[in-house]
Amino acid sequence: MQLSAIKADITKLAVDAVVNAANSSLLGGGGVDGAIHRAAGHELVNECRVLHGCKTGQAKTTAGYKLPAKYIIHTVGPVWNGGSNSEPELLASCYINSLKEAERIGAISLAFPCISTGIYGYPADQAARIAVETVSTADTSVEQVVFCCFSDRDLELYQSLL
Ligand code: ADP
Repeated sequence: MQLSAIKADITKLAVDAVVNAANSSLLGGGGVDGAIHRAAGHELVNECRVLHGCKTGQAKTTAGYKLPAKYIIHTVGPVWNGGSNSEPELLASCYINSLKEAERIGAISLAFPCISTGIYGYPADQAARIAVETVSTADTSVEQVVFCCFSDRDLELYQSLL
């Protein structure tokens, strides 16, 4: 598998699937979720509505609508609550289950945002370590994974880990 980190707006990436750091309602929110819903257009929320939400650590797929990406894999990261409330396991599950969804829909290239590290407050360095470790050791048919960072600091974190 080819792993890379870039600084970009994930809504602009022409990969098979982009991962959305959604909330459990799947009906849109702030941060990357809001950006994806705005860029994909209002049809996205209609498809999300019939998915009836998503549990923390799980992932569900929709079409990409107006995004260059064909699919959006919505996963719900854990809210940081000190670190001893299964946050690391749940965050790892987001990466594993997103890769499983990618495999199921036949996506070869996939881009992840820094799940949980915005509004959900997960420490960026710990989250980056889990992301890289989980993805690099996963048994998957996905061939290309891009860690799509939104800040220079996140990009540096990922570059030092890759
Ligand atoms: P969460 O609720 O899981 O913490 P956020 O969307 O608040 O999700 O933040 C997750 C990460 O996504 C943060 O690092 C944030 O800077 C980043 N982010 C926000 N907008 C975008 C975007 N358009 N493209 C890529 N990353 C983004």
